[in-house]
This record gives sequence, C-alpha cells and structure tokens, in this order.
Amino acid sequence: MLHVSEIETRAAGQACATHCPYCALQCGMHVQVTAQQSWTVTERDFPTNRGGLCQKGWTSGELLGHADRLRTPLIRDSRTAPLRTATWDEALARIISAIEQTQHKYGRDGVGIFGGGSLTNEKAYLLGKFARVALRTSQIDYNGRFCMSSAAAASIKAFGLDRGLPFPLADIAQTQAILLVGSNLAETMPPVMQYFQEQKARGGSLIVVDPRATATAAASTLHLQITPGTDAALANGLLNIAIKEGFIDEAFIAARTKDFELVRRIASSYWPDRVERITGVSEQQIRLAARILGEAETAMILTARGPEQQSHGVNNVLAFINLALALGKAGKPRCGYGCLTGQGNGQGGREHGQKADQLPGYRRLDNPDHRAFIARVWGVAEQDLPKPGRSAYEMLDAMGGEGGVRSMLVFGSNLAVSAPNAGHIQKRLDSLDFLMVSDFFLSETAERADVVLPSAQWAEEEGTMTNLEGRVILRQRAMPPPGNVRTDLEVLADLAGRLGYGGLFSDKPAEVFEELRRASAGGVADYSGITYQRILQEDGVFWPCPAEDHPGTPRLFLDRFATADGKARFHPVEFQAPAEEPDHDFPLYLTTGRIMAQYQSGTQTRRIPALMQASPEAFVQIHPSMARNYGIKEGDQVSLTTRRGTALFAARLVSTIRMDTLFVPFHFNGAGRANLLTNPALDPVSRMPEFKVCAVRIDKGATC
Ligand code: SF4
Repeated sequence: MLHVSEIETRAAGQACATHCPYCALQCGMHVQVTAQQSWTVTERDFPTNRGGLCQKGWTSGELLGHADRLRTPLIRDSRTAPLRTATWDEALARIISAIEQTQHKYGRDGVGIFGGGSLTNEKAYLLGKFARVALRTSQIDYNGRFCMSSAAAASIKAFGLDRGLPFPLADIAQTQAILLVGSNLAETMPPVMQYFQEQKARGGSLIVVDPRATATAAASTLHLQITPGTDAALANGLLNIAIKEGFIDEAFIAARTKDFELVRRIASSYWPDRVERITGVSEQQIRLAARILGEAETAMILTARGPEQQSHGVNNVLAFINLALALGKAGKPRCGYGCLTGQGNGQGGREHGQKADQLPGYRRLDNPDHRAFIARVWGVAEQDLPKPGRSAYEMLDAMGGEGGVRSMLVFGSNLAVSAPNAGHIQKRLDSLDFLMVSDFFLSETAERADVVLPSAQWAEEEGTMTNLEGRVILRQRAMPPPGNVRTDLEVLADLAGRLGYGGLFSDKPAEVFEELRRASAGGVADYSGITYQRILQEDGVFWPCPAEDHPGTPRLFLDRFATADGKARFHPVEFQAPAEEPDHDFPLYLTTGRIMAQYQSGTQTRRIPALMQASPEAFVQIHPSMARNYGIKEGDQVSLTTRRGTALFAARLVSTIRMDTLFVPFHFNGAGRANLLTNPALDPVSRMPEFKVCAVRIDKGATC
C-alpha cells in the first residue's frame, strides 16, 4: 500500500500542500517546516479558497509547536489525584481495564464513544467500527449532531440525500439571487465571500436573514432582521407572496416534485402582516425579498446554524426547501438549496458511521440490508452489530445514571464547553466511572479525564476530509508527530488488538481509506471510486463517485432527486414558537454564535496570541437603547441568567442587534461559557439542541 507521504518526497524546508485544521471550507494551504523547527503557513491556490485564508488559517502553524501541546499520556490514580505522566502501555491498559469492568457490570452499552466533526473520514470510520465491532456498544454519537443535523435530516426528507451544498462554491458567483439564512460567512468563512462579491458584481442580489446586522448583512442587498426562532414563519410568508404574485413554477412542481398542495394551503394563512407580527420583519421587506427571489431566473437558498440549531430546526429547513422547490429553484444549474456546514469535517463526519444511527456510506443501522452489507465488509456477524443508540445530548444527559454510559471515550471534542446546558453536562462527566479524552491540548474536558491521550495534529498525519461542497480532499502529512504522540488510528487499532480484534483494524490512513471505499460502495455517500492519488491530481473529488473512471458528482439532482421515484418532496410546515420565549423573569432573547478570531470551544484558538489579541474575552452584544434601560455602559461586566445557569460577560453596545436580543460567542471557558445558558430542548427528528434561542435576563454587575 502506497502512502501519499511516500508518493511525495519533500526535501527539508519544502512546502507541503495541505488544508486548514479548522472550518468546513477546508482552505488549501502550504505548511512549511523551517530550519528552526517552526512552521509557516503560506497561501495555496486551491479551487475553494483560491489563495485566501482567514486569520485562523494564517496562524494555524503556531498550533504545531505550541508549548501547551500534550506530548505524553496522562493518567489519574484516583478521582481526586492529579493527572500524572504515564507510558502508553500503562494508559492503554487502564482504558482496557475500565472497558472490561464497565461492560462486565453494566453490559456493552455501559461504554460510550463521543466523536467529533473535526476528525478525518478515516478516523470517523474507524471510530464507528471500533464502537460496533470491538466494543459492540450502541452508544456512539458526535458533536456534529450539534452542528448541521437538522439540515441533514431535512435534506434527506426532501431530496433523499444530504450533501451540504449540492453544487460547487463557484456556482454561487453565477446565480442571480441568494437567500442566506442564519449565517455570518464574512466572519466565519471570510474566503468564501469572494464568491458572493463576484455574484454581486455580476448584478446579483443577496438577501441575508439574521437577528444581527452582521458583516455579512452589511454586504447584502436586503437584510431581514428576524426575531430569533421565527424562521419557518418567514419562509411560509415568502411562499405566500410567491404564490399570490405568480412566482411559483407550476411546471417544475408537476414534473419534479410531490405533495405541494398541502404546503400551498398552509402558506395561504401566512399573509404578510401576520408574518410581520411573528418575525418582526416588515411586510414591505418580506414582499421585496419574495420579489427578488421570484423574479430571478436562478436563485439559491442557503441555511446555516441560525434556523437549524433550534428545537424546530428540521421544520425550519423544510420550510425554506419548500420555498426553493415552489420557485423551481432546485435541481437546475446555478440553483438549489444548500446547508453551509460548519466544522472541518462536518460533512464526512456524518457519512461514515460515528452517528448513533448510521453505518458507513450513509447507510442506516436499522436497515437489515445495510447491516448485512457492512457486516460482510467488517468480517463479523450481522446479528453482532448493535442497534441504533442515543443521540449526542441524550447520551451525555444519561451519563453516570441508571441505564446510561458509565465509561466514556472522547475523541476530538470539548464537551465541557461546547455541549448545551454545559454546567449540567459537566456534572454528568464528573459522575462517570471513567473518562478518557484524546486531544492535542488539555481541554476543559480533558482536565476532568482519568486518562488523557496526546493525539497527532492535522499536519502530522494524512487523511481525507469532505468539505462543505461534498468535495473529498486530502490532508497530507507535513511532518511526523512529536516523539511520544500517536494518531487516533494507532490508538484505536491498539485498543482493538487488546480487546481481541487486532486483525480487523489497521492503523494506516491509506489502508483505512481503502476499507472505507469498500464499505461505502453502493451507499448514498459512495466513495468507492475515490483514491488518494485522484484527490491530489484533481484538487478533490465530489461524492458520489462509484468507480475510479467516474468523474465524481459536483452537481447533484440535475436530472432527478435521490428519492425512489426521483421527485423531491414538499413537507407541510406550520410555524411553532421556540421552546422558550421571553417572559417576565427572562425578558430577552439570547442567541449564540461564532466570531472571526475564535473557533468552536477555543481549545486551539484561545492558545494563539494573535487570535487572543483580536478576541480576548467573552462578551455580550446588547443594543444601546436596551443597555440604557439597565444602566449598562460599554465594557461593564454583566451577568446573563437563563433557566440553566448564569454566565459573565463584558458588555458591548452595538446598534446592529435587535433591541430584544442579546448575542454571545460560544468559544470561551470559565465564567464566560455561553453554553452554561443554552437550552437543550431537542428537535424531535434531528435531536438538535436549541442553541440559537432561549429566554434570558441581564443584570449589571458580575455575580455568578
Ligand atoms: Fe481555515 Fe475556515 Fe479560515 Fe479557511 S475560512 S482559513 S478553512 S478557518
């Protein structure tokens, strides 16, 4: 088996073509090892970012030699003892002992696994296999459940397939009108704005839906400053006008969709002044938005976490898909609905088996044919594969309790900061019999672990990622990991060997990818025609790609949707209020999100001086008029309280936010942890928590 690191021999100091460690844009970059053993990131002309990087990408080389880097396993001799250094053999033996004791006492489901959307496809695949084959536990899920699971579920319902964007990013520049819902791309993925700028330069229109007048909204043609949690009402209102003004495409609806009539009836009750009352967006603006979309020959509707991270996230997305289908703006060139995936491998991470209900290739764990196929690939009996397990929050919520997971293995996730209702989840983590965390820094979750494993970073191992377009890309290894650091694949293969399944697990990325190709063959997310060599030669390959001579599929649905009859489905959606609305005790809306200089739980970015200089602390955005009501001035310490807890923030007075809404970023730890406040109310289909809206109280002064 040929490793790509062997295909490309790099002289010392020669740049390695790889990709950024952070978000789903997966910008191409060069990483160069200098003579002083430091690492420099330089630009690379890759088709997505076309040379551009954001500040996080430019500074990502600083992660590699960082002083905080974990370089040896750590273990804790008792729950109250401090972490101490250990050998790999001691650490792995301790994990095996915990697994065996837990499963002996509580059964196989007593051990759980929590994965992450930043893991490579190879790791996500092997993690799912490790859970089902070596542990035979049903308890596995990952933090991607908190990312785009609502859009994924809605896309499967409507189109029969979930791939974030059904077209390459470059198509965005070619479309006439874009409705961008709940995304601040100008801060979260700056290089992608070049496509929106090009679209605008061609005379196109951009409508941004957001409770805040963000940097992205500032670049728009029209900004709809929506009340948090009212997205479905807005989508239905736009459809109402589209129907009345004759913008819908009856021929497309008849030829390529099913079940429109019930949606048409529901839309008829979302007249504009009613929608204005629900959403806070003026009737005039709603009419203008409908007209821009309806009159455009080509249009795209893109959603992100704003409408998706809600307890009605699936319905919110379905309502926008209904609009795209009714306008005849899907399944055609330069048209379509798309989800802007957030995490680095949020897309691939949800295709190959680390989700509670899923097997590789986007197969389902509750489908007998799918189970039999994967069991054959893995060389195990189908009846030995567990059934679907709990979703992420439900698994975390049950930790340490009756029937819940008692020993948890966490790979690439910082739950103590990133899980909703984080104070509660922290208590559940502390109630475990055993916690293992694999990470490259001592995250807030790793600090609580019994065993911490130092894992390799992105530039120290090869592996594939699947970006937000469905383009499978290859991160090449620029350097080996430091001395006593191992890759997660090596850890999983070693643990599997100690559990008696050694022959079934490789620790080589290229070999794991070869197996993933076989396991995905014939599945929805078919990677069987994709090879490392092709990825390098073709700047990535879009799935599905069922054969090595298949060109890959940059554009989906042009001839048919992925349903049995090839037709997309409308789904009737009524607006439902969020789980919590402002009341006497908690009079404002709270919404959370990302900012430019930080990423996810901040484990990496809070360690980069330039990023900390740009965004050093947790803050809350509040409208100046609302701040006056509370006697709050710029920079004051304030406390926010919800039904889950209290957190502290520095006040930032901005007139770009709605009067009734507060915004906090979720990247910070300690007293400024936004997720101490967030509501774990779950969407009934996707099991997505309601990160994006809850009721909150603000008080001047820092009391927690
Ligand atoms: Fe990295 Fe995303 Fe920034 Fe690109 S946009 S450099 S992938 S964080």
